[in-house]
Parts: sequence; C-alpha cells; structure tokens
Amino acid sequence: MINRQFRMEWQDTRNDSQADTSPERRLMHGVKPSACKSSAGKPEVLAHRPTTYSALLLLMLTLAGCLSTARQSWPTYSEPTTVSSRSIFAKGQLAPEIEVQHLANARATPALLRRSWLELQLQQPQTALGTSAQVLYAANKPSANDESFARYLRAEAFRIQGDNKRGNYDRRRARDLALDPELQRRLLPAVLSPTPSRGPVWGQVAIEPRNSWQPLAPNRSNLDRMQQPRRITIHHSAMYFRDTRPRAAAAQIGKIQREHMQNRDYGDIGYHFLIDPSGRIWEGRELRYQGAHASGSNNIGNIGICLLGNFMRQQQDGQGPTNAQVQSMEQLVMQMMRQYRFGGDALFCHSDFKNTACPGPRMQPIVKQLAKQLQARLAGRGRRARSASASLAEEQDE
Ligand SMILES: [Zn+2]
Repeated sequence: MINRQFRMEWQDTRNDSQADTSPERRLMHGVKPSACKSSAGKPEVLAHRPTTYSALLLLMLTLAGCLSTARQSWPTYSEPTTVSSRSIFAKGQLAPEIEVQHLANARATPALLRRSWLELQLQQPQTALGTSAQVLYAANKPSANDESFARYLRAEAFRIQGDNKRGNYDRRRARDLALDPELQRRLLPAVLSPTPSRGPVWGQVAIEPRNSWQPLAPNRSNLDRMQQPRRITIHHSAMYFRDTRPRAAAAQIGKIQREHMQNRDYGDIGYHFLIDPSGRIWEGRELRYQGAHASGSNNIGNIGICLLGNFMRQQQDGQGPTNAQVQSMEQLVMQMMRQYRFGGDALFCHSDFKNTACPGPRMQPIVKQLAKQLQARLAGRGRRARSASASLAEEQDE
C-alpha cells in the first residue's frame, strides 16, 4: 500500500518534471498544489496557468453539478500529431471552446493548425490568423503540406472577416501546395456556380463578362451540364479580324453566336472563352454548360477557347495571332489548369480531335510549345511536391 502510494507520487513528480502541460495534469495539480513545486523553474508554463485554472475550475464545478461520477467521465484529450484533413478538420470529442483551451499553449504544428481551425469555428478569425501565422512564420520553414493548411486557414479567416480578396494569395498558394485530397477539394472553387452578373473575376485573369457583348438568350434545353473540366481546346474563329476596339470584338462574338445558334442549331455560342486581338478575354458559353467545339463526346469536360482571327493564310494579307492574344491565352490556360488541376498534357488544338486545320498553321505550333512548357513546369512542381510529402512522411515516422 505504502509502496503503491509512493509509486504514484513518484510518477506524478516525474510527469511534472517533463513539463507536461496538458490540462488534465494541470487540473490535478490544481487539486494538489504541492505537486507544482518541481516545475517552478518553468515560467513559460506557469504564465498561462491562472486563467486556465479558473476556466477549468469552473468547468469542473459545472461537470460536478451535472454528473455524479465527474472524475471518471472526464474526457481524455490528446493533441493531434499529424497534419491531415482528418486530424485538423475533425469533429472533435469536445466542444470547440473547450478544445481550444486544451491547445492554448500548443507549440507543435498539428496542434497550432487544429487550434486555428477551432478558432474559425468559434468565429474568431483574427485570433485564427495569429495562430496560423505561428506556423507560417516559424523559424523552421513549414513543409509544403503544413503550409498548405496554414494558408487555407488564413484565406478562410479573411473570408469570415468579409475580406475574401485578401486571402486570394493564400488560397492560390494553398492550391499549389496542397497534397491532402480533402484539402484540395476544399480549395476547389465552386466549379459550376452560376456566373455572377457583375463581371466574373476568375483569379488574376480579367474576363469580360458575357453580358458585355449582349448575347442572345441561350436555348438551355439544348445545353448539357459541364462535367469536371479536365482539358482545353484552342480554336481560331477562321474569320479575318484585326480590330482592337472592344465594341468591334463584342460585335464579332455576337456574329459567331448567331452563326452557331441559327445555322448550326447549337444552344449557345460554342466556345467558353474568346480572345480578341488586343488580348481581351471574353466569356462565351457559361462554364457550367458543356461546350460545342470539338465534336460529340470530345466536348465532355473540355473548355473551348477561341482566338478571334483567321490564322490560315500565310501570304501578305494573312494574319497570325497577336502577342497580346497569345499572352492572354497562356494566362487563361494556366489559370484553368490551376483551378481545375490538370496539366499541359490536357491542352489541345481542335485539329487533335478532328480532321481540320483549326486553329491554323500559325497557331498550332504556339499551342504545342505551350503544352510542352506547361508539362515540364508541372512535372517539376509534382516532383517538388512529392519530395515534400516524402520528407513529411519521414518526419511522421520518427
Ligand atoms: Zn476549331
């Protein structure tokens, strides 16, 4: 009996000397203040104790009031030890306001990220920003996986504060780094959400909204829902066009829509985007509808981009795409690939699907070149991401 008691005390002191700051232990110490003495030399632990004490004391009294066996049913709590959607976004055993107290002194990355998430649940975005910053700006640079979660939490905090735009960079960066499938899913933009009426802002690429070219109303019964975008096809309009005025481009797009709807019986203009010679990008068919540009089932999940102009003729009166047009096309392609997470191997010319010269001999090599560059770039990024996840896995195994 004496032996057992001795062992318990010894164990208690030993735990204390390991500076275990878990609240259960601190509560035990609150009941037995003498056991605290051995940790007196650890001011960083003590500094947080008074508030935790009173909060936990209050909690204990409440529990004692509700449950006759309060001591036995005190929930055990262990900090998350991995950074994954399963641990960070888990529906906890404890109420968020309680769990957040358990994590008040947390220093480890998984615990900090979890705390930041809980603070968001408690509608404390400013506090959550501070907590995720401890991960982002730690002395040791966070791994890709850790950073992706921290950035996501930051972007969410800005969103809750009603300042979504401030989180744009964090969201993009998180999207680039995310390895966790559930986090990737959360970072996907609302793919098939209806186009906002006041000019869609698709990330950093400016797009003229559909209503700016005064389209005919689409025949929706003749449109299919778009599936998850997974490829892009480039076209030319095959109509000589060099005018850089927005009004002229709008009229030209209207002309294409009438041709598609009236002569080909399409439900709407066939392309999702059109790019004029000055590089302006115009919204065509809404992305929530499947396009009509690559024939039949080739249109499934296929984003159609049309550059205004005829890139066939190579003689002196012929035209090629302008630099501005090519640049805008590259930006738009990259944006779509980032947004919907596919790579350079999913960029096509119309001629890849069908026996046609579209988008013309002056455009095809440009598209093929871009596809090659993007493939190389994304392959590099994939390697980096994989090595980051491999090192993270090693860390977790240790
Ligand atoms: Zn075409």
